[in-house]
Amino acid sequence: MRYLTLQSLASSFLLLAVGAAVSLSAQTAQQTPSQAVPSTGTAAAPAAMPQPPAKPSDAVVPSPTRAEMLRGAYGPYRANNDLLYYHLDIRVDPEKQLISGKNTIRFRMLQDGTRIQLDLHETLQIDKILYGTTPLKYERDTSAVFVDFPQTLHAGQVYSIDFYYSGHPEETGRFGVMAFKKDTAGRVWINTACEGIGASMWWPNKDQWRDEVENMDISVSIPNGLVDVSNGKFVGKTDLGDGYTRWDWHVHYPINNYDVSLNIGSYVHFSDQLGDLPLDFYVLPEDLDKAKIQFAQAKGMLEAFQHYFGEYPFVKDGYKLIEAPYSGMEHQSAVTYGNLFKNGYLDRDWTGVGISPRFDFIIIHESGHEWFGNSITAADQSDMWIHEGWTTYLESLYVEYRWGKDDAIKYVNGYKPKVKNLRPIVVERGVNAEPTQDQYFKGTLMINTLRSVVNDDAKWWRLLHDFYQHFKYQNIMTEDVVTYFNQHTGMNLTPIFDQYLRHTQIPRLELLFGEEPGLVMYKWRADEDRFDMPVRVGTPGQWQIIRPTTQWQWMKTPLTKEQFQVASDLYYVDVNKQ
Ligand SMILES: [Zn+2]
Repeated sequence: MRYLTLQSLASSFLLLAVGAAVSLSAQTAQQTPSQAVPSTGTAAAPAAMPQPPAKPSDAVVPSPTRAEMLRGAYGPYRANNDLLYYHLDIRVDPEKQLISGKNTIRFRMLQDGTRIQLDLHETLQIDKILYGTTPLKYERDTSAVFVDFPQTLHAGQVYSIDFYYSGHPEETGRFGVMAFKKDTAGRVWINTACEGIGASMWWPNKDQWRDEVENMDISVSIPNGLVDVSNGKFVGKTDLGDGYTRWDWHVHYPINNYDVSLNIGSYVHFSDQLGDLPLDFYVLPEDLDKAKIQFAQAKGMLEAFQHYFGEYPFVKDGYKLIEAPYSGMEHQSAVTYGNLFKNGYLDRDWTGVGISPRFDFIIIHESGHEWFGNSITAADQSDMWIHEGWTTYLESLYVEYRWGKDDAIKYVNGYKPKVKNLRPIVVERGVNAEPTQDQYFKGTLMINTLRSVVNDDAKWWRLLHDFYQHFKYQNIMTEDVVTYFNQHTGMNLTPIFDQYLRHTQIPRLELLFGEEPGLVMYKWRADEDRFDMPVRVGTPGQWQIIRPTTQWQWMKTPLTKEQFQVASDLYYVDVNKQ
């Protein structure tokens, strides 16, 4: 993203926001990941756990650009209004690779004001912004669009504007944002996937995570003969008489901007039902037979997640699985799929322990996001582990539902080699910062650890179910998760959550054996002073639960240093025996 000069600053507030973010970033960069733990008086520190090589970006906290700060901050021109509704009504010309149309944006003012902030990437043109028939003035600053009203908008009142735009979306990012492709038969195949980089790369909206519309209409006009599959329930299609047909979809629920999706191609359709829930599948004609076999897994996935969390969150919209030219994405009620119609992840044993080849990773993972990511959403990208840590854990719940607890624990532990432990999982807020991949693997290993801390599976299942039900359709932060878990377990889990989410290193159980067998000293080495997680030790099958703190304690044991074990499949911890 380009870094613009200060002359295009929109307001003095932004100067302040930018300054604050830069100084925060500098502080973060100065923090060292090493643990400040006093000497134990024992032998030299052991070598750290072997780690896979890391990408450079995992080790260094990148400084946010100005554009990222404008995208990430929930500034006054965002906070002064509450989104109610979008109608994205666009025409897509595959030949010219051109998108044009409008987004009708309805919102309620929360404070009196004359300005709101929307977003549209600078490669796209604003044709006009209308309030009724009145054209509105606006100021662009990187991807932010500050819209000015001629009169004060009043708190509590609902307003609607039509934001007209056009242009050639830049094909960029991991999944292409909006990619004008051809399928293997040379037919038009256009898909959108913009998580992270942002929906404002291809359509105008309030591009942040905290606020969502309550419902949405999506109208997509495309050349006759093509099919568009978007989010929500199919309403109908209308021949426009000029060689184009408009496909209308209605989303009955709140939706993330990045979940809004177009899938335009020569799709064929087949369908199924799970009780009253319609299941609709869209694939390219040549893949129909493979899809009918592979997509049968969707039913078992829905049954498993409904068992743990309750009803599929978007019943009125139905569940859809749509073939796409990239691996997959959790587009709400319109999950996109590109996993080769094979099990595992792109035909690989994803967690390397022989369980992943039993199921299609993309069907299970991306659909799991319907509960965590789409229904429950993080209010800032900094806390995205609420999407990815939980959904990765849902994979293991699917394994447990199908094949039992032992396989689920084995599956989760297969994620250990993927964890890098180079930066905390929760990153800087308000600057559009993206957490590292540890949010997936370390996040799920932390949740598996919490299950062992709760140490009562019936209570654990009730907790997970009620946690989801409590926060469904809401946008939440890590603090909400921690508060809920503390209140509903009666435990103080804050030091555990904080150690795993807000520090780089995992806790290490220090075990100190004497010359003679019979006695072992133990304590946690952790960044959180109050870290006091119980842990199972001794012999598998006859585990004994001890409650180490960050201070030395001791216990009697008949086991030698070699015999004494820690249940490290049930807790994601390092162990140092001396
Ligand atoms: Zn995911």
